[in-house]
Amino acid sequence: MSLPFQISVATLEREVLVDITGQVQEALKHFAPGLSGLVHVYVPHTTAAVTINEGADPAVKRDLVEGLARLAPRNAAYRHTEGNADAHIKASLLGNSVTIPVVDGILHLGTWQSLYLAEFDGPRTRKVWLTPIPRLRA
Ligand code: ZN
Repeated sequence: MSLPFQISVATLEREVLVDITGQVQEALKHFAPGLSGLVHVYVPHTTAAVTINEGADPAVKRDLVEGLARLAPRNAAYRHTEGNADAHIKASLLGNSVTIPVVDGILHLGTWQSLYLAEFDGPRTRKVWLTPIPRLRA
């Protein structure tokens, strides 16, 4: 059995995007040195997500958090009584995995892209599972 590689991410606020690009890149160096292909990045949680968006202007991640809060307000009427229904909705909107091209061990992201763990019910320590997918050679 070959389990995914796991990294941990501590989130410090209830709702926050944490840039994990460097942490995933570093993990790849150890777990899959020289990989060319893809890495599947998966969050095994129901109130957190992963997403790729602009990393240059920190205002963008605040706008994402605030924009999602307008779509799913924390104090609206929900059936789920745990108090985090908004977090479940936000996590589903962003999704729990992304797949990123990797070239010679380096994440092949666009110039302005960063990889984020999106926390919607923190602070907590979250798991991120990484599955390297080597490119097939004909
Ligand atoms: Zn819940």
